[in-house]
Amino acid sequence: MVKKKEIEKTLEEEIVVEPITTEKIFEGPIIPGIKSKMAISDLPGVGEKIAEKIKEAGFFDMMSIAAASPKELSNAAEIGDATAVKIINAAREELDIGYETADKVMERRKKVLRITTGSKNLDALLGGGVETGATTEFHGGFGSSKTQIAHQLAVNVQLPPEKGGLGGRALFIDTEATFRPERIVQMAKAAGLDPEVALSNVVVGRAYNSDHQFILAEKAGDLIRNHNVKLVIVDSVTAQFRTDFVGRGTLAERQQKLNRHLHTLQRLADVYNVVIYMTNQVMSRPDVMFGDPTAPIGGHIMGHFSTYRIYVRRSKGGIRIAKLIDSPNLPEGEAVFLITGDGLSDPPEKKK
Ligand code: ADP
Ligand code: MG
Repeated sequence: MVKKKEIEKTLEEEIVVEPITTEKIFEGPIIPGIKSKMAISDLPGVGEKIAEKIKEAGFFDMMSIAAASPKELSNAAEIGDATAVKIINAAREELDIGYETADKVMERRKKVLRITTGSKNLDALLGGGVETGATTEFHGGFGSSKTQIAHQLAVNVQLPPEKGGLGGRALFIDTEATFRPERIVQMAKAAGLDPEVALSNVVVGRAYNSDHQFILAEKAGDLIRNHNVKLVIVDSVTAQFRTDFVGRGTLAERQQKLNRHLHTLQRLADVYNVVIYMTNQVMSRPDVMFGDPTAPIGGHIMGHFSTYRIYVRRSKGGIRIAKLIDSPNLPEGEAVFLITGDGLSDPPEKKK
């Protein structure tokens, strides 16, 4: 017989180990008309078998089907182009995709939430922290702190709203093998979180090549829906694409693939109102004589898909300087922050 004390002990252990945020708080997509009760298998010409194939190919909901091209869908489900067109049209009708007045957009903007970076300066630059429903790209050279920020956000997303978090989990797509649980532990302690719980709230996917990275992102929808994920990190978003396509003389192919990947990420932000934090390297541009001779990788495509773009660079003594390059609603500006063992913070104010 198990003693009462022991039961209590196991219960206690379970409570500690059980992540604090497992209760599902997925309030449904925030895009209008996207709340579809229709199952994929209910679409005309789609049976259980084809529905399965469609889902396996990453089209996990009505929206992704509606946004697919006939070729994409026909390849994925091994059906004819004409059938694919029919299915896509039916999904579009079901979703009632169309225009709306700006007051409705404003209403939805109120659902936008933010995660604190841990630095007041950096939060201010970003309009209060990194935003849900948007993609935020930090680019910069090695050691500029892109990965540190990723870890910090993975911890801070778990904080309750009054402390600048979203009470949710983080998904960490690690393409450079630089994810470090030890940093999560250090930062969690500093933020007043139980390190064990904090670790269990970070779901890590190590991407070994660009295809793998691609699939990890396509699978993220399931995790977001079922496990209260509020933050998706891709660190780095471009590195694998860069190495995988080196010397293949297939720049166009690379850009196309990156384009689809970024599209997937953008869709996750839109549909699930989560934060997408992605990092990007810079390459040197020998042609630039004056000003900053570095440019983010990924060209126009990266620029097109990043709602917020921040350039971060290293200064002396743990200090970093972030510059907001592009934003739909915020002025350009700079912020100075600090990286320490505890994570991100602000530099101490200089005494006058
Ligand atoms: P990248 O932009 O290349 O991703 P990182 O985010 O990995 O750069 O930043 C690495 C830098 O972060 C290190 O060079 C160091 O300055 C700082 N850093 C990493 N870990 C710690 C730590 N435990 N304590 C203080 N600073 C750290
Ligand atoms: Mg890094």
